[in-house]
Amino acid sequence: MSYDLVVIGGGPGGYVCAIRAAQLGMKVACVEKRGALGGTCLNVGCIPSKALLQSSHLYEQTQHELAEHGITVGSVSVDIATMIKRKDKVVSDNTAGIEFLFKKNKIDYIKGAGKITAAGTVDVTGETNTTLTTKNIVIATGSDVTPLPGVTIDEKQIVSSTGALSMTSVPKKMVVIGAGVIGLELGSVYRRLGAEVTVVEFLDVILPPMDGEVRKQMQRLLEKQGLAFRLGTKVTGAVASEAGVSLTLEPAAGGEASTLDADVVLVAIGRRPYTEGLGLDSIGLAANARGFIEVDHDYQTAVQGVFAIGDVIGGMMLAHKAEEEGVAVAELIAGQSGHVNYGAIPSVVYTHPEVAMVGKTEEQLKDAGVAYKVGKFPFTANGRARANGCTDGFVKVLADAKTDRVLGCHIIGPEAGDLMQEVVVAMEFGASAEDVARSSHAHPQLGEAIKEAMLAVDKRPLHV
Ligand code: FAD
Ligand code: NAD
Repeated sequence: MSYDLVVIGGGPGGYVCAIRAAQLGMKVACVEKRGALGGTCLNVGCIPSKALLQSSHLYEQTQHELAEHGITVGSVSVDIATMIKRKDKVVSDNTAGIEFLFKKNKIDYIKGAGKITAAGTVDVTGETNTTLTTKNIVIATGSDVTPLPGVTIDEKQIVSSTGALSMTSVPKKMVVIGAGVIGLELGSVYRRLGAEVTVVEFLDVILPPMDGEVRKQMQRLLEKQGLAFRLGTKVTGAVASEAGVSLTLEPAAGGEASTLDADVVLVAIGRRPYTEGLGLDSIGLAANARGFIEVDHDYQTAVQGVFAIGDVIGGMMLAHKAEEEGVAVAELIAGQSGHVNYGAIPSVVYTHPEVAMVGKTEEQLKDAGVAYKVGKFPFTANGRARANGCTDGFVKVLADAKTDRVLGCHIIGPEAGDLMQEVVVAMEFGASAEDVARSSHAHPQLGEAIKEAMLAVDKRPLHV
């Protein structure tokens, strides 16, 4: 078969790229070896984790939050098998949806592992083996779990995020290694379901890329909810037996070793690019020292006609970043001027409350010597947050001291991820804090906290 474009990998980067290329009139195939479209995100990432976050949040609310509304329920229990079954259905409905979109856009979905054998040639090993010839190749093979030496993942007692999304029971004691996004989201799920959760983190802070003030407050909130943290600590080994897992810990700066026992250990220390079996060497390409495929501004690798996008090229390992790159590269291949604004890509942690950020942190602005103003507004002063009973957190806006242009925004709070979208659009259009502050915000809405934080940049908030 001969194509204009063959995409290898059917995750958010690859499948979106395939759809956009087909919209632009190209004959497209997408090769995926997982047996389902949607990649890490839909199958073992964003979507299943959010399904379990939602189920466990409902369980916690039912147990602890309904009474103050005057709602009484009988005894509340959780059936993990049903919860996991629901999660699996959410996943399969979503992945089937992408197959439908492929049919609608006349994209050939080729099931199997793709291997580049020459520029313009992809061999597929799968149900049927086939060779595809193509004018262009987009590599969108994503990422995989970063292993931790001495802590062997068996997906039963020592799990990666994939195993943690399909557990058959709630462990009594769970240790999460890594206080990053996965550790805090999935640690929250099992804490809500009744596990005693300890998070061991190498650094002295949780959520390393976030604004310092956000990191501190979020740690306090999570501790209040019952998560325990062992910061500045490294795990040097694990021994699994029928009795559970015994971890050996050491202070990150060196010092005396100690042990920590758990029924289940979740390893969540990051993800690494995935290029296994892709055949990069057949076209004279090599991944860089960290395993990423290097590309230029137009996502072109060192080989003409071979492009790469998404987690496999590094940067923020986020589904929407991969999607934007998928659209941009399809447009560039079609001769248009696709572009991604990396300065306005939001990042959200789906704990409760949520944490969201876009643009620069205060620490980054200080390091860069940029003069900035800060506007802050707490959710305790927002009427809707009070009515909803979700007053933890704040909105913090960073704006250029001279021009008032919005440089960054950080939110801890109810629906922080959805709220942040207004700031993303504002930044995309180069708005000033005053532009957002002067826009009418419906009342009573959580979004009024954003307007107030923008007003606070000019020291004139109305409700604090
Ligand atoms: P992937 O989604 O990894 O897709 C790559 C695909 O390529 C895979 O399906 C793989 O099977 C296939 N493949 C690889 N090699 C070959 C080959 N040779 N031939 C054929 N197919 C191949 N991001 C967010 O933005 N929001 C979230 O809430 C979020 N939650 C997450 C939760 C978890 C638990 C995890 C693990 C990740 C989460 N992420 C989230 C990150 C997100 O999943 C990734 O950033 C995103 O999936 C990257 O998309 P991608 O297309 O680059 O790669
Ligand atoms: P992460 O990079 O977010 O966090 C990893 C954490 O582990 C860091 O705090 C790091 O300091 C720590 N760490 C590293 N080595 C360690 C060690 N040896 N011992 C103890 N701690 C150690 O990685 P993650 O949480 O595994 O997530 C992987 C990727 O998936 C991230 O890039 C993230 O963007 C993406 N993801 C996104 C979302 C979301 O957008 N809501 C959700 C889940 C995952």
